[in-house]
Amino acid sequence: MEKLIIIGSGPAGLTAAIYAGRANLAPLVISGYQPGGQLMLTTDVENFPGFPDAVQGPELMMQMRAQAERFGTRFVDRDVSLVDFTAHPFKISIEDEPYEAQTIIIATGASARWLGIESEARLRGKGVSACATCDGFFFKDKHVVVVGGGDSALEESLFLAQIASRVTLIHRRGEFRASKVLQKRVLSNEKVSVEWNTVVEEILGKDSVSGVVLRNVKTNEEKRIACDGVFITIGHMPNTELFKNQIELDVRGYIVIKNYTETSISGIFAAGDVCDYRYKQAITAAGSGCRAAIDAEKFLELLK
Ligand code: NAP
Repeated sequence: MEKLIIIGSGPAGLTAAIYAGRANLAPLVISGYQPGGQLMLTTDVENFPGFPDAVQGPELMMQMRAQAERFGTRFVDRDVSLVDFTAHPFKISIEDEPYEAQTIIIATGASARWLGIESEARLRGKGVSACATCDGFFFKDKHVVVVGGGDSALEESLFLAQIASRVTLIHRRGEFRASKVLQKRVLSNEKVSVEWNTVVEEILGKDSVSGVVLRNVKTNEEKRIACDGVFITIGHMPNTELFKNQIELDVRGYIVIKNYTETSISGIFAAGDVCDYRYKQAITAAGSGCRAAIDAEKFLELLK
C-alpha cells in the first residue's frame, strides 16, 4: 500500500513529489513512457524564475527529477493502464500490475491538439509534426509551414527559422494570441512570413509533404503553396482519457477542482495542465503541484 501515488512527471508531478518527499510520504511517481512532460519537447525556457539566461526544458526536468529523488521519491517509467477510484484505498494498474494508494495526485498534463483533417493524419511523421524541437532538424534549408497563433506557434516558428530556409506562419485570425515579446520577434524575423485569417484545408503529398492548400476565411479564396513540412501548434488537450467515468471532468475534458486541489473524489487531487485551462505555464503547474502535495499530506493526517 502506497501512501501517495503521483501520476505524471511534468513540473506539477515532480514539484508534488519534492514536497511530498520532504514530508516523508515516500511518493511513488508513475512517470509514463515519456517522462518529464511537455518541457521535454522545448528548448529555451526563459520565464521560469531563477534562470536569467534561460534553461533548456529537458535540463530543467532532469534537475526536478533529481531533486525529487533526493527526498525519497521512487519512479516507475511506465504508463498507468487502468484506475479504479470507486473505493478507498484507490487502485491503479500499470499494465497488469496492481497498486493501491491512500491518496493520489493526478498530474498527467496535456497533449498536442491536431487539426483533424485526413491528410494531416496520413502524413503525420512524414513531414507533419506537432514538435519543432523533435523534428525541426529534418528541415534544414527547407520551407516549413507552422499553424497557430499562440506562444507555442510563435516559439516554434522562431526555432524553425534557425534551421529552415523559410517559415510561413498560418493563423486563422487577424491577430496573434501570443505574448507581445514573441510577436515582436516573429514579425521582425525576415525568414518568417505570416498568412493572416487563413486556415489549412489540406496538406498535399503522398509519402511526404509537398505543399498545403490554404483558404482565407475572410475572402474564401484558396491558394496552394509548396512546402516540405507542416508543424501543427494549435494548443493542447488534457490527458484525462483514463479518468473518464471515474472523476468529474468539465465539457472540455479538464479535471474539475472542487476544494483547493481536490477533485470530485475526496483523497484524489489534481495539479498542472490536466486541470488548468487558463494559465498552462510550467511555473503555475509547479505551484499547483506544491499545493496538491500539501493537500494530500493533510488528507493523510486526517486518515490517522
Ligand atoms: P494556445 O495559447 O491555446 O494557442 C493556440 C493557438 O492555436 C491559438 O492562436 C488558436 O487560435 C489556434 N488554434 C486553435 N485551434 C485551432 C484550429 N483548429 N485551427 C487553427 N488554429 C487553431 O496554445 P499554445 O500556444 O500551445 O500555448 C498554451 C499555453 O502555454 C498558453 O498559456 C501559453 O501562454 C503557454 N506557453 C507559453 C510559452 C512561453 O511563455 N514561453 C511558450 C509556449 C506556450 P485563436 O487565437 O484564434 O484561438
